[in-house]
Amino acid sequence: MSRLVLILGDQLSDRIAALREADRESDVVMMAEVASEAEYVPHHPKKIAFVFAAMRKFAAALESAGWRVLYTKLDDPDNAGSIPGEILRRAEETGAKEVLATEPGEWRLISALEDCPLPVHMFPDDRFLCSHEEFEDWAEGRKDLRMEWFYREMRRKTGLMMEGDKPAGGKWNYDHDNRKAAPKDAEFSGPMRFTPDETVEAVLALVEDRFGVNFGTLRPFWFATDQGEARRALAHFIKTGLPGFGDYQDAMLAGEHFLAHSVLSIYLNAGLLCWEDICAAVVDAWEEGDVPINAAEGYIRQVIGWREYMRGIYFREGPDYTTRNALEHKRTRPGFYWTGETKMACLSAAITQTRDEAYAHHIQRLMVTGNFTLLTGIDPHDVHEWYLAVYADAYEWVEAPNVIGMSQYADGGIVGSKPYVSGGGYLKRMSDYCKGCAYDVGEKTGDHACPYNYLYWNFLHQHRDRFGKNPRMAQMYRTWMKMSDDKREATLASAEAFLSRLEAGEDV
Ligand SMILES: Cc1cc2nc3c(=O)[nH]c(=O)nc-3n(C[C@H](O)[C@H](O)[C@H](O)COP(=O)(O)OP(=O)(O)OC[C@H]3O[C@@H](n4cnc5c(N)ncnc54)[C@H](O)[C@@H]3O)c2cc1C
Ligand code: SF4
Repeated sequence: MSRLVLILGDQLSDRIAALREADRESDVVMMAEVASEAEYVPHHPKKIAFVFAAMRKFAAALESAGWRVLYTKLDDPDNAGSIPGEILRRAEETGAKEVLATEPGEWRLISALEDCPLPVHMFPDDRFLCSHEEFEDWAEGRKDLRMEWFYREMRRKTGLMMEGDKPAGGKWNYDHDNRKAAPKDAEFSGPMRFTPDETVEAVLALVEDRFGVNFGTLRPFWFATDQGEARRALAHFIKTGLPGFGDYQDAMLAGEHFLAHSVLSIYLNAGLLCWEDICAAVVDAWEEGDVPINAAEGYIRQVIGWREYMRGIYFREGPDYTTRNALEHKRTRPGFYWTGETKMACLSAAITQTRDEAYAHHIQRLMVTGNFTLLTGIDPHDVHEWYLAVYADAYEWVEAPNVIGMSQYADGGIVGSKPYVSGGGYLKRMSDYCKGCAYDVGEKTGDHACPYNYLYWNFLHQHRDRFGKNPRMAQMYRTWMKMSDDKREATLASAEAFLSRLEAGEDV
């Protein structure tokens, strides 16, 4: 009796648990492009195209490797439109009575599989370094769940950049060296770009037709869509991007969408790359003397530290995590998040780049778009849905803890010990956006002042009961209290006027 082996669009790895449990001779692999997954938020067309194209190529690779694969395209007339619907349809067709699956990265789908009328055996997704149980053990009994301690555990566990039980170079973390602004004449080669082949072109035509109205530019489409291409993109990054990765990790430049970032999360999260291969390549380059220690350490910290930690938080916190709203923020997300049409040059740049590439790097997501929604009190669930829709690497297990936790402080401080907020001064230091802005970053109040400036103080003032006693924010509150009454009043009045204009949908 055959069983169905379910492979989801972000499980495109030949080492995925369900495949390892399956029997190539008797079991049948099923994969499906379904409307319910493509439409539950208005995903960026590049993201949909990437997932469908990579799925089609992965299905073909499995067939070549001897698997029987039942693949449903989005426009197949019999398409049942949802994962459970497709399971039932394929079960009827094949007579299968059981399903082998790998745990999805989203509570919504986990519960859909649990509710499926057919027995579904769900295996842990062991493409990650840290299992749910291991994270639970680490978190148990801790007063706070700081990433740095978790990261050190992962370094010890993997032995990556370790000399015995000591970190290579004597320090666990070289972040201090990783906060440079990019010089004006710096040159970045950017990620490797791939020309769409016939399979990709067919998907692009489908996506153009069905999702052409979604926010986001589909062409030029340049992502890798199979494991071979993703490996080439990795090798290209190690050679061209990694040496400068540490130094310019937090930098932003108008017109430079990628700087020295790897743009590998898209491939890693979908299964085209695995963390082991990425980290091995990074460590090899460092051992060969091709990249400095701050770049290599900084990079592996993102992958075995932040990425694994975020997943741990998502699964530990449970299905209600995306509805948390510790700061009780209620405003609706401004319409310009779907157009980029704002006079604020930094926001306009981050949003239009997101529209064109389905990509923005970490500091743009955190300190430009995320900082603004936090300072203006936008409902974090609205913010979460936007991030989930617009980035090609966005799957809930990684997007939600970054948005709800790190960026919007909506989980009340589980991920971050203080909110990530800043005035325009930080953005000026780390970018060249302010030069081309209608607002003046040097002005603190009034119509021409940079909105981040007064919104920052207004945020601290509004949330003084919660953050006033936070030792990490004491200095900021002291500065606020040292300002003259007039200055404080003018700051709050500027913020109020701006927020009224924002709510009224006026141009800001
Ligand atoms: C508000 C917000 C939303 C985010 N949403 C997502 C998301 O939906 N999907 C996603 O993969 N990442 C998300 N991140 C984390 C991070 O911004 C992206 O992983 C990174 O920008 C991906 O680009 P890159 O591959 O060029 O990363 P690089 O800068 O080259 O970093 C290397 C790798 O480290 C990992 N990484 C780095 N930081 C994080 C982090 N905070 N959490 C998890 N992994 C990390 C990624 O796998 C990334 O590929 C978000 C961050 C913020 C602040
Ligand atoms: S002045 Fe303010 S709004 Fe304008 S680019 Fe600079 S930080 Fe952004």
